[in-house]
Amino acid sequence: TQPTSPSPTQTPVQTQSPTPKQTPTSTVSVHLTLGNPTNAGSAPDNYLMVKPQYALSYNRDRGIPNWVSWQLNQSYLGDVERQDDWSPDLSLKEDWYQVRPGDYRSSGYDRGHLTPSADRTRTVEDNSATFLMTNIIPQHPDNNREVWRELEEYTRDLVESGKELYIIAGGVGTKGAIANGKVVVPQQTWKVIAVLDPPGSGIQGITENTQTIAVIMPNSEAVDNTDWRDYLVSVDRVEQISGYDFFSNVPKFVQDEIERRVEGQPPTDQSNCSPAYPEVCIPPPPPDLDCSDIEQKNIKVLQPDPHKLDRNKDGVACL
Ligand code: MN
Ligand code: MN
Repeated sequence: TQPTSPSPTQTPVQTQSPTPKQTPTSTVSVHLTLGNPTNAGSAPDNYLMVKPQYALSYNRDRGIPNWVSWQLNQSYLGDVERQDDWSPDLSLKEDWYQVRPGDYRSSGYDRGHLTPSADRTRTVEDNSATFLMTNIIPQHPDNNREVWRELEEYTRDLVESGKELYIIAGGVGTKGAIANGKVVVPQQTWKVIAVLDPPGSGIQGITENTQTIAVIMPNSEAVDNTDWRDYLVSVDRVEQISGYDFFSNVPKFVQDEIERRVEGQPPTDQSNCSPAYPEVCIPPPPPDLDCSDIEQKNIKVLQPDPHKLDRNKDGVACL
């Protein structure tokens, strides 16, 4: 058997460093309570922007955010109508290109919100903030208007049922560019969600039992007539394709547990699973297994790889 949780002596102890290297992100913004996934700061390709309504890492060279992070609970939801007052973000540095709402015109892509308009309906100011172009990525209409919207609606249903969410979303990869190359079109869109129950518990409310929801969706017509649940993955998978670290303020042993699971799949009996394949349950050899023996595709592989599934050793097998 493999250990799945640390012994009590390994439980991290809250230490108070007299000279903290970094300001805790949770004091920077409530929207970063669970962490700053890229340690965003002042670099042009990882530029931290904190607003009352959400926080984000902007990428000047891609013309889109790397990620946007926001808290969602009932206090953000009201009766304000969708403002549709699209605007460049004037808080960007003056000599940076400020993406304009018209830059997406005739591109074939929607101006896709990361923090949705409908998640910020308490005040006109809050709703208008979601129409800043630093909260927007070029999103294929079939993605934006269907599966992506349906997941957004599901998260608000969770809030209506009394939950509090921390949501991080972005686009990964490059399938092209619009606006004369100033705005990159991501290959895929992804979203990572922690569901807190009860609300208001903050980081203390995150335990090994905390529900997480993560998706990776093609930014293309390939999502037409599909369900958002078809795109469920582990948080670890989104970390792997993005290179980001979500929930970094959460103790590592809790992160490991809540990032490994895939929402909606029954917990696997880990007692006879090889640790080389952390997102699925593949028993160690013997017998030796090949990809054709294994149901799952796109499997994360750690070395040593006892079944030799990952021949080019890029960390992924059975594509
Ligand atoms: Mn992880
Ligand atoms: Mn993490």
